[in-house]
Amino acid sequence: MAKKRDYYEVLEISKQATAEEIKKAYRKKALQYHPDKNPGDQTAEEKFKEAAEAYSVLSDEKKRQRYDQFGHAGVGGAAGGGGFEEGFSMDDIFSRFGDLFGESFGGGFSGRFSNFSGFNERQRVNRGSDLRVKIKLTLKEIATGVEKKLKVKKDIACPHCHGSGAASESDRTTCSTCKGRGHVTHVINSMLGQMQTTAVCPDCHGEGKVITKKCSQCYGEGVIQGEEVIPINLPAGVAEGMQLSMSGKGNAARRGGLNGDLLVVIEEEAHPELIRDQQDVIYNLLLTFPQAALGCTVEVPTLDGKAKIAIEAGTQPGKVLRLKNKGLPMINRYGIGDLLIKIAVYIPETLTKEQKESLSRLSDAPNFQPTASVRKKIFEKFRNFFD
Ligand SMILES: [Zn+2]
Ligand SMILES: [Zn+2]
Repeated sequence: MAKKRDYYEVLEISKQATAEEIKKAYRKKALQYHPDKNPGDQTAEEKFKEAAEAYSVLSDEKKRQRYDQFGHAGVGGAAGGGGFEEGFSMDDIFSRFGDLFGESFGGGFSGRFSNFSGFNERQRVNRGSDLRVKIKLTLKEIATGVEKKLKVKKDIACPHCHGSGAASESDRTTCSTCKGRGHVTHVINSMLGQMQTTAVCPDCHGEGKVITKKCSQCYGEGVIQGEEVIPINLPAGVAEGMQLSMSGKGNAARRGGLNGDLLVVIEEEAHPELIRDQQDVIYNLLLTFPQAALGCTVEVPTLDGKAKIAIEAGTQPGKVLRLKNKGLPMINRYGIGDLLIKIAVYIPETLTKEQKESLSRLSDAPNFQPTASVRKKIFEKFRNFFD
């Protein structure tokens, strides 16, 4: 698949564009590449879809934020459950943004209009609402990526009527008002002459069909409360608050329309010993004074088990040891963080009489005093830390 273009580039707008500018830019592109204006032109159709996709993200404040932060991975695809680009048909575009076309091209008449014959011939399609669920992941799962099964309570298509809402197939008939077209056409005599306008059919609300006898299980709605187990592939490197969208996995729509999306929000479970800092993981290693002074070998926790590290004699508190590539991967997998081991030294909080005496003796020993060069070395490290 070709590399996805930047959404701002697609609509030819700046990253600071206002909602109004985004809408305007999209209308312009939609008009330019509309299939009715470019019959049989595959490139125009692709551009038309590309613009619709860009608009669907940038016109939604939350999706736009995610896109600005994480790029294409933040708004689909990454979830592995069918991103936006697959299965986003022309019908989806008309049903989702039909209102926009209506306002945009209809002029000052009441009701919803469209001059697009492409839209006129299409019925309005119901769309199920989006669902949002949270999922808790451990740092270990984030390090490797994980496949989970989500049990989601949601509206599902009624199994009795298969989502149609009718008691049987013969109880669903073509709407007589609009003859199944989903819209009605009026001719208005105006100063400019006769004008033909189109509005959504008031009897079938654009569905083109009416139900004469409702399904007894869903009372004609076509959906019931149900549950679905949805497998989801969580990529390595996700972070708290990140949202993955699975297109079509949200609530089912009334009477066989388009499903909403499932939005999966990532929550990070706190690790008992490790702290995440972006792609790095930090461990605070507490040594005893003799361990730091004499040197030792200690075990430290990592994201995949334990690691043994050697501590040199005379290790100073505040020193940071780095275990390369023992951190978390970037979500795009172009890099991996480190495990940082920050040395701390435990000072006993209580002392016996003998310990006090021996420590007092030791504190007078010349090698227990930092020399000028040692002070300078430690100060330089301290300064570099704050650079
Ligand atoms: Zn039903
Ligand atoms: Zn109708």
